Amino acid sequence: MPKESHAARAERAQRIVASLNQAMPEARIELDWTTPLELLMAVLLSAQTTDRRVNMVTPALFAAFPTAYALAQATPAQLEPYIKTVGLFRNKAKHLALLGAALVAKHGGQVPLRRAELELLPGVGNKTAGVVSMHMGGDPAFPVDTHVGRLARRMGLTTKEDPDEVEAALQALFPQAAWFQGHQLLIWHGRRVCHAQRPECHRCVVEADCPKRGVRVTKQPRK
Ligand code: SF4
Repeated sequence: MPKESHAARAERAQRIVASLNQAMPEARIELDWTTPLELLMAVLLSAQTTDRRVNMVTPALFAAFPTAYALAQATPAQLEPYIKTVGLFRNKAKHLALLGAALVAKHGGQVPLRRAELELLPGVGNKTAGVVSMHMGGDPAFPVDTHVGRLARRMGLTTKEDPDEVEAALQALFPQAAWFQGHQLLIWHGRRVCHAQRPECHRCVVEADCPKRGVRVTKQPRK
């Protein structure tokens, strides 16, 4: 098979996202939040946990700790009961308490918008910082979680495993204005069709443009 040029790959990548957008214009972040602090807390809680699970605990958590000042005064032991059904809750309770203290000490109780500043906060990695920043109108980003990375590799948009390298590869294939929606659409598609186990290629709207790298294709189930 001839090697695909960067231009051809970019065209294919943009065609994929356009098809996904046509099929799923409703794709959006599935965490519930109304303020930058709520978004930051929810994304931090969502590591290795479903958004559904996070959304079950956040109403009570947000009501009890509505500001960074309230969060800063809480101990991990006081936070744990609110999030105990979420994976890694002990670590996350520690991070939430430290996060509140850092926001008060360094940012006047506000959530910073820039990705580089967010990344310095306790418990906030590069992906979380990117997701929060782009939703807040801070820095454009194409954050790479497990779904985005898996789909980008299957679609032949990159061979990289490292999330930072995958993000750089995706950013090079799309105009900046498309990063936000591209990120959301890949996650949405990864959760509904291109599952980690048994992707449903037979009902995938981008099958014609996907080389299905690393996918063991199974037959369409009989009706
Ligand atoms: S064709 Fe298969 S591997 Fe490719 S994006 Fe669709 S579901 Fe995923």
